[in-house]
Amino acid sequence: MSLQTTYDSDNIFAKIIRGEMPKVAVYEDDTTLAFMDVFPQSEGHTLVISKTASSVNLLDMPADALADVMATAQKVARAINRGLKPDGIRLVQFNGAPAGQTVFHTHVHLIPMWEDRPLGRHASDMAPVEELEATAEKIRHEL
Ligand code: AMP
Repeated sequence: MSLQTTYDSDNIFAKIIRGEMPKVAVYEDDTTLAFMDVFPQSEGHTLVISKTASSVNLLDMPADALADVMATAQKVARAINRGLKPDGIRLVQFNGAPAGQTVFHTHVHLIPMWEDRPLGRHASDMAPVEELEATAEKIRHEL
């Protein structure tokens, strides 16, 4: 899909927001939702999305919704830092399929990094839900 694609309200993250698809939630407020990536590249790989903006990518994202997402990303990154004690945290955001975007509802990735652990492949290996739930609980505990 190109950068200019129109928003499809049946994308998987829109379904997650509407409760039509399951999620392992980490944090939620009136405007944003943070939940575990089901194909994590590392322990604690978390996604942050806007619940209010029907936005495909950075280019069509209202600035206030972007600010809400970044504020939640910072809050969750701090909780990841306290709960999982990684050596680093990547904040990643892809725009358009050629850039690596696979879900066309704007989102940022928080990917904890450890010096001695290789990073998994993008959107590749599904984690067991019990494992995601246990990790989410460690993060939620620090919010
Ligand atoms: P991107 O490639 O930047 O669009 O990232 C989309 C991310 O969503 C990938 O890292 C996928 O692993 C993740 N993903 C896809 N489906 C789901 C789902 N149902 N729940 C949680 N994460 C998902």
